[in-house]
Amino acid sequence: MQSETREPLSILREVFGHAEFRGLQGEVVNHVTNGGDAVVLFPTGAGKSICYQAPALCRPGVAIVVSPLIALMRDQVEALRQAGVAAAAYNSALTPDEARDVRSQLLAGKLKLLYVAPERLNTPGFQSMLHEATISLFAIDEAHCVSQWGHDFRPEYRELSSIASKFPGVPRIALTATADPITRADIIERLALREAKVFITSFDRPNISYTIVQRDKPREQLLDLLKKHRDASGIVYCLSRKKVEATAEWLSEQGIRALPYHAGMDGGARSRNQDAFLTDDGLCLVATVAFGMGIDKPDVRYVAHLDMPSSVEAYYQETGRAGRDGLQSDAWMCYGMADVVQRRSMIAQGNAPEEIKRVENNKLNALLGICETTDCRRKAILAHFGEAYPGNCGACDTCLAPVETWDGSEAAMKAMSAIYRTGQRFGAGHVIDVLTGKSNERAERLGHDKLGVFGVGKDIESRVWQSVFRQLTASGLVYVDQEAHGALKLSEEARPVLRGEQKVTFRRDQPPRRTKKEARSTKATAMPEEAQSLFQQLRVARARIAKAQGVPPYVVFHDTTLRALAEARPQTLDAMSGITGIGKAKLDRYGADFLEVIKAAS
Ligand code: ZN
Repeated sequence: MQSETREPLSILREVFGHAEFRGLQGEVVNHVTNGGDAVVLFPTGAGKSICYQAPALCRPGVAIVVSPLIALMRDQVEALRQAGVAAAAYNSALTPDEARDVRSQLLAGKLKLLYVAPERLNTPGFQSMLHEATISLFAIDEAHCVSQWGHDFRPEYRELSSIASKFPGVPRIALTATADPITRADIIERLALREAKVFITSFDRPNISYTIVQRDKPREQLLDLLKKHRDASGIVYCLSRKKVEATAEWLSEQGIRALPYHAGMDGGARSRNQDAFLTDDGLCLVATVAFGMGIDKPDVRYVAHLDMPSSVEAYYQETGRAGRDGLQSDAWMCYGMADVVQRRSMIAQGNAPEEIKRVENNKLNALLGICETTDCRRKAILAHFGEAYPGNCGACDTCLAPVETWDGSEAAMKAMSAIYRTGQRFGAGHVIDVLTGKSNERAERLGHDKLGVFGVGKDIESRVWQSVFRQLTASGLVYVDQEAHGALKLSEEARPVLRGEQKVTFRRDQPPRRTKKEARSTKATAMPEEAQSLFQQLRVARARIAKAQGVPPYVVFHDTTLRALAEARPQTLDAMSGITGIGKAKLDRYGADFLEVIKAAS
């Protein structure tokens, strides 16, 4: 047990094996180490944990870390232990003996960090035990759970505001990767952190490349993405449980190692699949949004959406699970008009009051704007969070293959006239048949083949008309009426366009599966060819070591560390200690094993 205050930078180097703090980390760590309260708003992958872990090791006593999920606690505790830190979790997963052991370590002053669930911290019994220990700080992780505006509201988080009065003088630090301003303000208010210093960094995730493709043959399109990421871990999000099951099965048939995950599975199978994803080195997890919160896996190389999420916030959170280790990763979404119809109908059929439904529709509109933008996607996403991005990113699909636009005023007028003339009672399929003059039983029965609009759109392919209807719907000129079984109707805003007073510009959708722009901007992060085979050998060694201990491979070393080893090829333990992510404890524990691999490859 140590009681003196220690210097943050020496802790960072010795324990975590990093030479310097990144971004605002150093400022936060110094502030909290000196006893200040802090609110930390960093995007995923910016190294939030260090912001409380380093002060916890610098200050005397034990840090109490509030975390919403047992799986998250387990991984964090394991990673700390591997770095030689006395850490434990106190939760319902412990046996009575284990729980007793943790309590006695706590009271003996042997722990530096203790992870607990919020409901545990709120119990009087636990609090009186804490009063007998020296508390270095309270860290409230995933702090957005306190806000009902956030996407993971947990009522137990509300009671955490009382910590301030019950433990006066103990610094508190709240951390989240949630970017939207309402949630941020709510966190500060609800956790009584008005006096705290707020640390906020750019929400840009430079190592994530954003791609949104128009849905054509979604499974084939997905497969194209996965082929780029053979042997890598990734997540594929689907809206329904049924689609999760079917997609996982189909991918398996295609030779991709894929497992399903959704809330309808029995608990055992679900946690088995989650564990497999965490501990295995190259698994595709097909999941509903029930999966992901608190998942700390750093080497997720892609996040794919087969269905559109509900909002930009959700999209940002979900795609944000890719590339936490800072290495190049893909955020990919497949999107079409069916998504708009489906999302609108989910909102319409929900039980929320009208006021909330309006907010949800607006949130959906913001995401549609990003799907349909002809501008840089990254720029559009950050603009949503109030952040200006200078220039274009050069790494998203619209930057790599600039989108052509076309004057769609006439097409829009024809499309909207056809909607109007057919009585605003049909979906896009029938209206497109009328426009392209496709005579069929239904059109004849309804007399639509006699209308003036019948066949006026023959000069344009059906595929392009679909793109027109999608864009009209996304822009709000046309809306989907749920009451009328999803019929397309004209909105008020359509009038000036119909009268020819307002121009409409459409994006020209890329013909699917033809454009193979492989020019990913991976130059900055690509591994030199000569390092690649050593990197693979190091991965094999890591997998073996991790398996023997029953921990995820990244708990042993992150990919970034293996990569640095493969590139630098250190020949001695001393040289190895200079590699990022190799602290003293890990050097002692693993140095010799990895050195052997490097030497054998030289
Ligand atoms: Zn871009």
